[in-house]
Amino acid sequence: MSKAILFTPGPLNTSEAVRAAMARDLGSRTEEFVSLTNDVRRQISVLSGAGGRHEVVLIQGSGTFALEAMLGSLVRSSDRLLVLVNGAYGERIVTIAKRMRIDVVIQRSAEHEIVSPADVAVTLDSDLSITHVAVVHGETTTGILNPLKAIADVVAERHRRLLVDAIATLGAEPLSIEDYKVCALAASSNKCLEGAPGLAFVVADRAELERVGGNPHSLSLDLFDQARQFERNGQWRFTPPTHVVAALWVALQQLEEEGGVKVRRSRYVRSRDLIISGFEKLGFQCFLSLSVMGSIIVTIRVPDWPGFELEDMLRFLSCSEIYLYPGKISQENTFRVGCIGDLQPQDIERMLDGVARYIQDNCRRDVKMANGR
Ligand SMILES: *Cc1c(COP(=O)(O)O)cnc(C)c1O
Repeated sequence: MSKAILFTPGPLNTSEAVRAAMARDLGSRTEEFVSLTNDVRRQISVLSGAGGRHEVVLIQGSGTFALEAMLGSLVRSSDRLLVLVNGAYGERIVTIAKRMRIDVVIQRSAEHEIVSPADVAVTLDSDLSITHVAVVHGETTTGILNPLKAIADVVAERHRRLLVDAIATLGAEPLSIEDYKVCALAASSNKCLEGAPGLAFVVADRAELERVGGNPHSLSLDLFDQARQFERNGQWRFTPPTHVVAALWVALQQLEEEGGVKVRRSRYVRSRDLIISGFEKLGFQCFLSLSVMGSIIVTIRVPDWPGFELEDMLRFLSCSEIYLYPGKISQENTFRVGCIGDLQPQDIERMLDGVARYIQDNCRRDVKMANGR
């Protein structure tokens, strides 16, 4: 069986050890599984820089489930939520909040610009009824990395509560929920933690969970109840994704063995830089400037070369089991190349060769691929 190469931001290529961990059935009430669950919670707590204040609450599902659980369990309908938006995942938080009938204020900025902490300060100072602020740390829409620490400082100084979508960054960008005085963050198993998809979690301020607890927005996504159950007997309230938990346990082990978040980040940056220089050599342009780019995904402009059709190129690559993502931004045509997961330099080379072959066979353009190729 040939290996699919996923240049996608999760699910992504997992290691052989992570996949092997899923080859065994585990009873959900066994001592072994309870101890796996506890251990995964402990490791996530360390990774997110949680001290005694915060609790790791695991949730079945993808990252969006954790976002819904976070908003539904920590924001009341009498609260007012400021959402900082510079991409599709910020918009998703708005959608979730509106469905929950949370009172929402939106501060939008352009998709190629980071959220400005100074603008957040102005908004918070001019609307004292805002109780919570939500922001996406790494916007997978473009790959932009928002300045979380600076935003968190502005929010904390004004005694508001910050909720963070760290789904695309936890494991790859250093952060500390305790030091930054963040109320809660949401993340999932299948991005920079490099586990299998199916498990999400919220690291939440315990006192806040207790204060808002009992908010009956949903039974299955109630963080307060779920946290109480983990505390009581270490068990999940409903059927847990046992294989995925076992895989995440191994994936977290591997993150530690690799050298932790900083070392993983430099591996992603190396991949990212290979991807950028490869595409630039072929004549493509990045959508973002390097100064605002995170380490997990690169957005590339669709060129106007005669004969170049994005869908054709993606289909052509998928015939060799190489998968890129179409773009997600509103203002222009782009595609995205993920840098995360178990990707090797030779995988990147294979992908770039495929792109070069597609161009050679389909595009008529004046600029030949002479520079170096
Ligand atoms: C992946 C991702 C999500 C969650 O998407 P799912 O499809 O539910 O996994 C949310 N926010 C960001 C920034 C993401 O990268």
